[in-house]
Amino acid sequence: MRWSQSFIPTLKENPSDAEIPSHQLMLRAGYVRQLMAGAYTYLPLGWRSIRKIEAIIREEMDATGALEMFMPALQPIDLFERTGRKEAFGNVLINFNIRRQNHQVHLALGPTHEEVVTDLMSRHISSYRQLPMTVYQIQTKFRNEERPRFGVLRTSEFLMKDAYSFHSSVESLSETYQKIYRAYCRIFARCGLEYLPVEAESGPIGGDASHEFMAPAANGEDQIVFCRKTRYAANLERAETGRVRSQVKPVDTALPASEKLHTPNVGSIDALCRLLNCQPTQLIKTLIFLADGEPVAVLLRGDHEANEGKIRRALGAKTLEMADAATVFKVSSAPIGFAGPVGLKCRFVADHDIPQVVPAVVGANAEDYHLANVVLGRDFDLPRTAEGEYETFDLRNAAAGDPSPRGEGTLELVHGIEVGHVFKLGTKYSVSLNATYDDEAATRQPLIMGCYGIGVNRILASMAETKFDDNGLVLPLSIAPYSVVISTIGVNDPAVDEVVNQLEKELTAAGVDLLIDDRDQRPGVKFKDADLIGIPLRVVIGGKGLKEGQVELKWRHLPEASKIPVAGAAGAIL
Ligand code: ATP
Ligand code: MG
Ligand code: MG
Ligand code: MG
Repeated sequence: MRWSQSFIPTLKENPSDAEIPSHQLMLRAGYVRQLMAGAYTYLPLGWRSIRKIEAIIREEMDATGALEMFMPALQPIDLFERTGRKEAFGNVLINFNIRRQNHQVHLALGPTHEEVVTDLMSRHISSYRQLPMTVYQIQTKFRNEERPRFGVLRTSEFLMKDAYSFHSSVESLSETYQKIYRAYCRIFARCGLEYLPVEAESGPIGGDASHEFMAPAANGEDQIVFCRKTRYAANLERAETGRVRSQVKPVDTALPASEKLHTPNVGSIDALCRLLNCQPTQLIKTLIFLADGEPVAVLLRGDHEANEGKIRRALGAKTLEMADAATVFKVSSAPIGFAGPVGLKCRFVADHDIPQVVPAVVGANAEDYHLANVVLGRDFDLPRTAEGEYETFDLRNAAAGDPSPRGEGTLELVHGIEVGHVFKLGTKYSVSLNATYDDEAATRQPLIMGCYGIGVNRILASMAETKFDDNGLVLPLSIAPYSVVISTIGVNDPAVDEVVNQLEKELTAAGVDLLIDDRDQRPGVKFKDADLIGIPLRVVIGGKGLKEGQVELKWRHLPEASKIPVAGAAGAIL
């Protein structure tokens, strides 16, 4: 490709609205241009990089046995209503009515494809013999992000590689999860991206287990803690939204009277403070909701209205209504109290806002009484690790230097960019969309699912955010738009043209993708641009060097150039 015939609008200055390196560099290097907030055009250089990243993703996904396909971005809204995600996504879900003949059709632009793919499989999988199966696509996703910013790191329209797996057993799901987890490691390594897999919160996708792949970067929006010694790493978000999620067995009246608390006035903060001997500031709000009609007490730190979607997702419920009781926890020291409505037996869901969950008061079952000193393990249980430990380590307020939750080593805190996310979904979507298979005993079972996403544009943006120097981008061969740039010195010089054409022939024949800067520009301008756009190898042909029978090779990531005889140039490059 001749530079003069390409479309590479480089900029000398940083655009004033670009705050972070990746945004500045991708604009300056002529990789992208903004259409409006959250929407970018990929110019030829940026798009070539994206295509190379996609090719790596395809190779690694194909190697896992996953099958590539392509699903529509345009989706019927009722699928999202059936899974409860219309509400869970809220304003993020782009949806609208269109007219068809004489009726309205309500559509959404897919933010991911769990609904579409589960609906598809519900029609085509009928027997355990068809399982396991994994499908994937690379496709545009739409999300009305609250604050699209930082260039292409967070946009309203972006490319995602999303994969979905279907299983007849949890073991089979784990096997595929591991396989794709390892494929993700290879994908990021091949792209030259430094990454850290961390334990993650599942977010609106839902499900039981999940890991994110984070590119450590100062401007990353996520915060992660990790311990070099024990290899422990987690997203702080996970700690905030439910690392400790408990499902309490409703307690009965068997506790001795001495363990009952007398609350004269349920709902009065003052009364509770007197009762618990604490200040109002030590109390945390607990609200009772009806999740799919079932009463659930939820411990809350923030405003419940802002958190409703989060709570509903955490509970895996389709509908969530406020019940009439509001109660309070004391958090500074035990006991942590829950004053519930009389006689209510309800599920208790604590999130990680409680540093210690025991002993707790988890529900009243007689007029003006509440049960006190409910004991963890006896009256309710929390999720445990594989080693049988309670997962109660509070990462939310973790600081660098804190001990690792695994006992040895200390925690480090870094910012990260989420480039990938894998989830064990379980049966969340198959149950709500009625996607079943017949097991060996010919009994209908819901499909067990996993899903796996990678932000394709975000890989490039994360690379631009972390791989640059004062002169511009420094990209590896695997994802740079071109592997080699030939910068000519002098235009319309037959001696230069001859060497360039010969080298082009040899390199192209060997499959090297080549950009030839044939512009009528000073060498200094050409070198600056070649550096800015991040091409790994620069070959300078012309001037004094060529008169001496030499060309100059300069690797972008190395400080020194070297001189090679013209005849050996192709050999030295290949
Ligand atoms: P984030 O926390 O950054 O909002 P997410 O957790 O909402 O991301 P997922 O639903 O897990 O995103 O989607 C899978 C992947 O898609 C993410 O790991 C990320 O790489 C990419 N991605 C998500 N949202 C965006 C976006 N707005 N712009 C670009 N890439 C995105
Ligand atoms: Mg998001
Ligand atoms: Mg996230
Ligand atoms: Mg995510």
